[in-house]
Amino acid sequence: MIAVIKPGVTEEQLNNLIDWFKSQGLRVHISEGEYRTVLGLIGDTTKVDTDLLSGLDIIESVTRISEPFKNANRKFHPDDSVVDVSGVKIGGGNFAFIAGPCSVESESQIVEIAKEVKASGASLLRGGAFKPRTSPYDFQGLKADGIDLLLKAKEATGMPIVTEIMSTEHLPLFENVDLIQVGARNMQNFELLKALGKIDKPILLKRGLANTMKEFLMSAEYIMAGGNENIILCERGIRTYETYTRNTLDLSAVPMLKELSHLPVIVDPSHATGIARMVKPMAMAAAACGADGLMIEVHNDPKHALCDGAQSLTPEQFDDVAKRVMKIREVI
Ligand code: PEP
Ligand code: MN
Repeated sequence: MIAVIKPGVTEEQLNNLIDWFKSQGLRVHISEGEYRTVLGLIGDTTKVDTDLLSGLDIIESVTRISEPFKNANRKFHPDDSVVDVSGVKIGGGNFAFIAGPCSVESESQIVEIAKEVKASGASLLRGGAFKPRTSPYDFQGLKADGIDLLLKAKEATGMPIVTEIMSTEHLPLFENVDLIQVGARNMQNFELLKALGKIDKPILLKRGLANTMKEFLMSAEYIMAGGNENIILCERGIRTYETYTRNTLDLSAVPMLKELSHLPVIVDPSHATGIARMVKPMAMAAAACGADGLMIEVHNDPKHALCDGAQSLTPEQFDDVAKRVMKIREVI
């Protein structure tokens, strides 16, 4: 349920109202927008008399929220949320490129790529240390050593780092990671989501391979219900009957998720298509339909990459994509 507060209400009146909601066993989420304050009420609101509330002279309107996601709902927070990743802002008009290799392979590889993508305008460095591979015989990532190498690249370039977590057991290793990624395969790992709800680091949540937008937002809700509201949603393609592309990039998810939720939405055209030459057109299309950023795989030697070489751009190709995307941003 949400209660929209009338302009000009004093702090004391607002606090009295909030205390009353709390005394009814409800949790209150306060969203102070530029023009009005919206109170989101979480819990069993069935006993709340909406007619009585609407009659109070400090309340403009009271609405029940039918969607199962509350904290992630735009009705709870009408303005776009801006997520701050160690000084890099995403959402609310702030656009960011996250770029880097699928997997961290060596110090020289990650540091060299970091320097190149930074020079082309990327503000966050990605690189997998723990890799969710379909085959147990494929390269599984450098694990803790991979995170150490990312930290070296961060030291060399000043770029905040993004890397994927697969288990709650590994959380202590992520202490110096700026943005923790939950990959598509773990979107519904609810124990992991609950643990991430208890920390205050930003989370990059990727859409599951076969998950609806409602399920995606419910996963964000799991993290937010624990108190962590710093979430960036990432559309990375869903599985369909199509085989020419690795996945099917659901670009309609961008405007739909942004309508339903206040959270920033970025797009990963690399995993969505699986083909390097498809990355540029889909990155431009993502920017055109309102994405708040892009996550793109870049490798200095794609042919010899230990993972996802076929979809990885060279630094030169990334530079071209970044320039094109910025041109689209100017137009829109
Ligand atoms: C990744 O970004 O490294 C990754 C494995 O992506 P996804 O979870 O979208 O498959
Ligand atoms: Mn990859």
